[in-house]
Amino acid sequence: MPITHFNFRKRYSKYMESKSHKEAPSIALVPKDDPTTLFTGSGMQQFVPYLLGESHPLGTRLYNIQRCIRAQDIDEVGDNRHDSFFEMLGNWSLGDYFKKEQLVWFWGFLTKELHLPEEKLYVTVFKGVDGIIPDDDSYNIWRTIGIPENRIFKYEGNWWSRAGAPSQMPTGEPGGPDSEVFYEFTSVAHDPKFGKVCHPNCDCGRFLEIGNSVFMQYKKLPDGSFELLPKQNVDFGGGLERLMMAMEDNPDMFETSLYRPIIQEIERITRQKYDGDNKHAMRIIADHLKASVFLIEDGVLPSNKEQGYVLRRLLRRLTVKLRKLLGQLPSANEVAQISKIVHEMYEGVYFKTGDDFSLVSRTIEEEIKRFSLSLEKGLKEIQKMETVSGKDAFNLYQSFGFPLEVTEELLREKGEAVDKKQFNDEFQKHKDASRSASIGKFKGGLADNSTKTLRYHTATHLLHQALYDILGSEIRQEGSNITGERLRFDFYSTQKPTPEQIAKVGEIVNTQIKASLPVEFKNLPKSEAEKLGAMSFFRDKYPDMVKVYFIGDYSKEFCGGPHVKNTNEIGLITIYKTEKIGSNLYRIYAK
Ligand SMILES: [Zn+2]
Ligand SMILES: [Zn+2]
Repeated sequence: MPITHFNFRKRYSKYMESKSHKEAPSIALVPKDDPTTLFTGSGMQQFVPYLLGESHPLGTRLYNIQRCIRAQDIDEVGDNRHDSFFEMLGNWSLGDYFKKEQLVWFWGFLTKELHLPEEKLYVTVFKGVDGIIPDDDSYNIWRTIGIPENRIFKYEGNWWSRAGAPSQMPTGEPGGPDSEVFYEFTSVAHDPKFGKVCHPNCDCGRFLEIGNSVFMQYKKLPDGSFELLPKQNVDFGGGLERLMMAMEDNPDMFETSLYRPIIQEIERITRQKYDGDNKHAMRIIADHLKASVFLIEDGVLPSNKEQGYVLRRLLRRLTVKLRKLLGQLPSANEVAQISKIVHEMYEGVYFKTGDDFSLVSRTIEEEIKRFSLSLEKGLKEIQKMETVSGKDAFNLYQSFGFPLEVTEELLREKGEAVDKKQFNDEFQKHKDASRSASIGKFKGGLADNSTKTLRYHTATHLLHQALYDILGSEIRQEGSNITGERLRFDFYSTQKPTPEQIAKVGEIVNTQIKASLPVEFKNLPKSEAEKLGAMSFFRDKYPDMVKVYFIGDYSKEFCGGPHVKNTNEIGLITIYKTEKIGSNLYRIYAK
């Protein structure tokens, strides 16, 4: 039986469970309260508190398959291996097993479960840099497994930390070596433009990274040296799409079974073949539409801010591409047909069979209609221009809603490049609310654990409960965002909160803060936590065992932590702004 993406996921689950791992289900694409990033961009995101020392309710061996969006890769989509939506297989050891188990198990999964030919697999290990010894442990483990010396490569770049290379890490920062596995596409000839000889880190496309095991091993000391962490963790991530490319021995991701049905539908609708110049456009349409469907399913709607603006850019860019292939603007029905295929492909995995899909098609349809009106006008403007400066590109954005990459692409057809810096400078000048989303200031990785962040985060638990008390049980959290300066909390409510109600909410929160309530957690079976009435984030699926944080008797909420130990550490808060951000959606700011 061929390995499809359906049974691939099942195989990974079964394999990890045979090694005593528990599944922590995929979280929503818009993380509930991670201030560092707009989207869930890796499997490790939900494990951040645990990698920094909190205990996980499911134990010390965990795995999952996480849906992810990387907005910073949008520009790159169009070649044979970049996508903005992807799924990541991941497993974690929280102070449990280490290098030997991890490398032997992953190798076993690749060669015995997936039957990838060993001679096409290459591995890389940390070479040593800045006085840190090379990762000989991993090297020797790979040799013991039977990998010949000529398929093991040592690089200085095989190092992970939040700050980058060892020399850039601040004191106290955790980091460690990583070890990657690469698949060799023997059908792709090395391009000498990238160097004399080909090797796993060569950019010619012959090699593809299919998995990375990070060993969080060291902590940086004030004198610049490193000591071993008391609890060493493993963080493994491998892209499902990339593993499918290796499985199907196809260097074009868009020809694998994770994309083929979508590409075929685009071919049918546009009456064009997936070859030559069409490939670039069809890849963008397929990727962007897939990402859009998932974003809308996870509660994002097109807007000019943050996540909503990323969705808008995806939909607008794919509209421009479809218009080019069709020779005219796509109809809403044509786009809906393609998005239906996306839905079918992931039915039973992320979407329930028989789910109502009308919100997705309606949202896409409305956005395309809105954009179509200004697209033709904007195109006429571009025709008139001899060259398009960064400033012109900004005007096209402001007047016609052309995201920068759309303008860039229309120009690429004219053979010109837009001055990105000038565009961004204009953005800064106009202090547009969406600038961070547009320029792409996205950080991934571990969230900040500063005292202020802990205080504000703990305050959101109190706020959540206070809103529930004042506005009723139908309210639900839609997200939160915390910086060193303030907290922000989004919620759903069918009634518009009055200023008096908001004032009351603020009072309640401060009363609880003054009451010096202890903040403690318990690990509980999910059903018991639900019976207790603990608040949860409705977009996330939770595992059978969950961590519930109790703030005195006042609040109980599903959360990984960390928090302050007592509410008196929070300090009094002031709600300084409340706004409506969508249909039945409200946002509160407090500091
Ligand atoms: Zn090469
Ligand atoms: Zn919390």
